[in-house]
Amino acid sequence: MIGMTDELYLVGTLEELYPKLTNILRVIENRAALGYRLLLDSIEAWEYKTRDDGRVCPICKPMHDWIFSGDIVRDNFPNLEFLGRGIIFPDTHRGTEITADCRCELIFLNAAQVIEERLHREKMMVA
Ligand SMILES: [Zn+2]
Repeated sequence: MIGMTDELYLVGTLEELYPKLTNILRVIENRAALGYRLLLDSIEAWEYKTRDDGRVCPICKPMHDWIFSGDIVRDNFPNLEFLGRGIIFPDTHRGTEITADCRCELIFLNAAQVIEERLHREKMMVA
């Protein structure tokens, strides 16, 4: 049985609970092995960082320190490239009239929170 709060309640005999617990364990192990895709939804918070110097282009400049959700990043930076686990090169003005290379980055701010929330959601679905 799943409670109405964000807590998970499992009620039953050990015999009844065993398959549910095994299911939950499988989900957790699967996620630990595969991880989560990024740029999925609005839980993710990505901070836009320019180099904040005199050479920042007028397209990037106003976005300095802005926080974007994952789905917004996915939908609005078509040239993006992952530089590392929590860093994206947005390549914001490729294809525009600005010829200078973009030097900006998007930094993933809340990885632990996102993983926790997604895992919790998934756990609630299989229990
Ligand atoms: Zn830029």
